[in-house]
Amino acid sequence: MFKHEKLNLLIFIVLLLLQLLGVVGLLTRFHPFYLFIIVPLFFWGGIGTTLYLHRYLTHRGFEMPEWLKFILATGSAVVLAGDPVTWVGDHRYHHLKSDTDEDIHSPVHGFPYAHMMWLIRKPPEFRERSKRYAADVSKIWYCRLFERAGIYVLPHLAVATTLYFTLGLAGMLWCLYVPMLVIYNVTWSVNSICHMPRLGYRSFDTSDHSRNNFWIGVFGFGEGYHNNHHAQPRCAAHGLRWWEFDLTRYVIWMLEKCGLAWKVVWPAKESKNSDAVSAEGAALLLTSAKAKNSI
Ligand SMILES: [Zn+2]
Ligand SMILES: [Zn+2]
Repeated sequence: MFKHEKLNLLIFIVLLLLQLLGVVGLLTRFHPFYLFIIVPLFFWGGIGTTLYLHRYLTHRGFEMPEWLKFILATGSAVVLAGDPVTWVGDHRYHHLKSDTDEDIHSPVHGFPYAHMMWLIRKPPEFRERSKRYAADVSKIWYCRLFERAGIYVLPHLAVATTLYFTLGLAGMLWCLYVPMLVIYNVTWSVNSICHMPRLGYRSFDTSDHSRNNFWIGVFGFGEGYHNNHHAQPRCAAHGLRWWEFDLTRYVIWMLEKCGLAWKVVWPAKESKNSDAVSAEGAALLLTSAKAKNSI
């Protein structure tokens, strides 16, 4: 079972180090000026992950201009969210096998494993599987380039170096590594907390354990309404009720109004339990979303 795979020491050290930099950042002196950097950087990296990697690239819930895709892909690389091919491959497989023994990050294997340990114990052969499930993503030239670790880290290093030489060590830690600490743990909480029985609520009777969690929804740019998402994987909105704050949904809506997003899969007017789909159904929806990418 992949759960007992050997620890990938390099990934372990890198993830630990990145989080430590965030924690150390919190202990350094904060300057209010940092907010002018933190807010846009947090937004760029966060939306790069939720809007681009997840709602666009994995589920193809809408279309947008090529230049915007590139900017958002770069944002996700700045916060080292994970190379797009691996990210999409792992996530599509999660929808296919949600909360079964084969689900790569389900709390059925224990909370720490669902939250972060799966990244550290992932068998190398899963890489090939990701490539199969994200074959459409491999066709995008910059996603293919981002598969090479040496190239993938460049946007991150460029931002980190610029911040270090302009704002000093504390400025770099506050403006880059503190937002990354939040983005990482909120993203991982979607995999762990949003699949835990009793933590949150269910609006749809899906075949997995997915749950909606308001707070993860707020801090995770809307990704916390995970039961809604498992029920309608291609839907560009995860927050469906008026109080389910979903920042990514509002950004997609704004882009659509500006003509920068089209073919948006919005929720059906009346979302009832009958709209819910099984894991297999979700997988079918995924395959129906086959890349029409022109790159
Ligand atoms: Zn899930
Ligand atoms: Zn998804």
